Amino acid sequence: MRILLVEDDQLLGDGVKAGLAQSGFNVDWVRDGVAAELALKTGEYAGVVLDLGLPRLAGMELLARQRALGNKVPVLILTARDRVEDRIKGLDAGADDYLIKPFDLHELAARLRALVRRASGAAAPRLQVAGIELDPAARSVRYRGQPVELSLREFALLQELMLNAGRVLSREQLAQRLYAWGEEIESNAIEVHVHHLRRKLAPELVRTVRGVGYMLPREAA
Ligand code: CA
Repeated sequence: MRILLVEDDQLLGDGVKAGLAQSGFNVDWVRDGVAAELALKTGEYAGVVLDLGLPRLAGMELLARQRALGNKVPVLILTARDRVEDRIKGLDAGADDYLIKPFDLHELAARLRALVRRASGAAAPRLQVAGIELDPAARSVRYRGQPVELSLREFALLQELMLNAGRVLSREQLAQRLYAWGEEIESNAIEVHVHHLRRKLAPELVRTVRGVGYMLPREAA
């Protein structure tokens, strides 16, 4: 899952990016509000981690502008302990959750998972589609009750397909969600991951929609 991190503090940004990567997120990191606006215009993100004190465009302003534009991406704001009014303003401006600095990286990852889950309309922490059961927190997958070993990318790909079951996702959309900026990506990377998923689950599970992309049907065939 691709996350946009907006944080001007180098140390904190480094830590958050590394921590979230360990939890299986792909993190694009920008250091000011204007760069964040540009990233949100061009990229597809499952969630945003937003610092409020930012150069060029303050986090609160950025958030208000995005919500005014109709952008519904889940946003978690990072605030200082003594700034209660910031948290209230942030939530009123359309933030979905907040964390007080300093925070635990595992908690940040767990809150992001919860936000993305709620945004996708799935209340249960586990995703269940067409006989596949995926547990994002435990990073485990079962197919028809049997455990399936997946690589990090395969897991991320399956999660995207399950979150969008019944909808076609293009290769580009999938590549955007699976890879961060500047990450090396082979032109056939998505095809290769799909191939592996079919081999490890069942060949008919991931459907190719010719010229468009891939889809996981809601029900087992
Ligand atoms: Ca800051």
